[in-house]
Amino acid sequence: MTDHPEHAIRCPWCHATPGNRCTSPRGRRIPVASHDARIQAWTTRTDARDQKTGEPT
Ligand SMILES: [Zn+2]
Repeated sequence: MTDHPEHAIRCPWCHATPGNRCTSPRGRRIPVASHDARIQAWTTRTDARDQKTGEPT
């Protein structure tokens, strides 16, 4: 299992559900585990939570 914490959230691009890697719109495997949009969304969410509560991720 590779380390992809962004898999904890739903991908806003391909709508991959939490815990699953990203796929193409047709549900096929893609070369990357996560779309940039998903990583961006995860990073943004983490930053927002940290600033709001100060809790570690
Ligand atoms: Zn995706």
